[in-house]
Amino acid sequence: MKVKITRPTYDDYWYSKHIGEEFNVKEYNTYDYQIIDINSDHYHDYILKNDCEIIKNKQEIVKEEIVNNNKNNLYYNTNLQMYHIKLHDYKTKIVCNKCYKNGQVDDKCFECGGKGIHNKTKQKWEISKKLISIDKIDRDEDGELRYWEDKSCFFYEMDKYLHYSYQDAKNECKRRNKELISKGD
Ligand SMILES: [Zn+2]
Repeated sequence: MKVKITRPTYDDYWYSKHIGEEFNVKEYNTYDYQIIDINSDHYHDYILKNDCEIIKNKQEIVKEEIVNNNKNNLYYNTNLQMYHIKLHDYKTKIVCNKCYKNGQVDDKCFECGGKGIHNKTKQKWEISKKLISIDKIDRDEDGELRYWEDKSCFFYEMDKYLHYSYQDAKNECKRRNKELISKGD
């Protein structure tokens, strides 16, 4: 999360000269945050929770970094509620092509057994909620943004399987489902 320093409890604290400045921090213990801006002179320094105010939560910061797309090495110990899109099977009924071509349902049709319709398994993209724990965000050799979850990683921009908002996931599902239909599945 991001905090803004509001005061020093004691004047000899390092941040007494940094009132009003903003830092990316993580929860350290009940009383302190720890600075996680790796390029800051104050990386790993502490701020009393009582001496600052939260201006952005973790999810907002990570999202902002993705949108602005401007940093190379970001470290987060953060859980993000994201929306995952995935192909799911579903059963549907379709009109028997053979009977349709004949213009009537043939009760001896070997395709549909005289029913005029078939069961068919189709696929469509659906959304599910997924809690992602992001340890680190960096870029690969080609400059693609890479998210690390434990030892595995995924590419947000390339894959587009994960989304920050339900609306984004919905739009991507819609786009992919349209693609499926146009492929004639
Ligand atoms: Zn038929």
